[in-house]
Amino acid sequence: MLSAEDLNVFYGSIHAVKGVSFDVNEGEIVTLIGANGAGKSTTLNTIAGLLHSKTGSVTFMGENLGKIPPHKIVSRGMALVPEGRRVFLQMSVQDNLEMGAYTQKSAGIAGDIEKVYEQFPRLKERRRQVAGTLSGGEQQMLAMGRALMSHPKLLMLDEPSMGLAPLLVEQIFEIIQRLNKAGSTILLVEQNAQMALSIAHRGYVLETGKIVTTGPSGELLASPAIKKAYLGG
Ligand code: ATP
Repeated sequence: MLSAEDLNVFYGSIHAVKGVSFDVNEGEIVTLIGANGAGKSTTLNTIAGLLHSKTGSVTFMGENLGKIPPHKIVSRGMALVPEGRRVFLQMSVQDNLEMGAYTQKSAGIAGDIEKVYEQFPRLKERRRQVAGTLSGGEQQMLAMGRALMSHPKLLMLDEPSMGLAPLLVEQIFEIIQRLNKAGSTILLVEQNAQMALSIAHRGYVLETGKIVTTGPSGELLASPAIKKAYLGG
């Protein structure tokens, strides 16, 4: 479904992503894990067309995304939930969800919102509440719900666990797994390697801009080197 080939991304003279290649097959949860500053967000933002790679290519559903502007990438079936959620804080829950439907025909939107509320009952209870007053976990749910409004084939999540209490992290990961079982393909960027590998099919480990290891999640979880570096021993 998605293939990234030889990405090299710079911020001025900083070479943040160095020759990164990976792929995501339809139906998978694939995770990119790594420490602070390893280049995970940069990689994801490059896939979404928000940053530019000096070399290589991103192919999605057989199409090279190189020449497609970021605002059109959503209509190709890719949605990104950015780090820090970035919901519209002054707007209600319901209005945030409607904003996520800007690529959709208006006839289907009300039904799509109801489907999001089925996935996230807490959002339904708070539909009139201003997003800025939601808890961190609720904002994460809203950001995910808003992304789902565009009917993505590929859902990309940038550190959904960030700043959340352990119980909420578990809930968010359960939801990610449920969305995957319902048909969404997922690319998950996480610092919480243990949680990410516990739900992903495969993982890639990024270190200072390079992929150093890849494999099925079970293998990565069992690897002594990964345990030492990312799983607390
Ligand atoms: P984190 O888990 O902390 O979000 P990350 O793995 O997502 O980390 P990136 O945010 O992709 O890492 O950052 C990769 C490198 O690029 C880091 O060295 C970071 O300081 C640098 N970087 C990121 N954004 C910028 C920017 N806007 N300008 C300059 N350097 C940047």
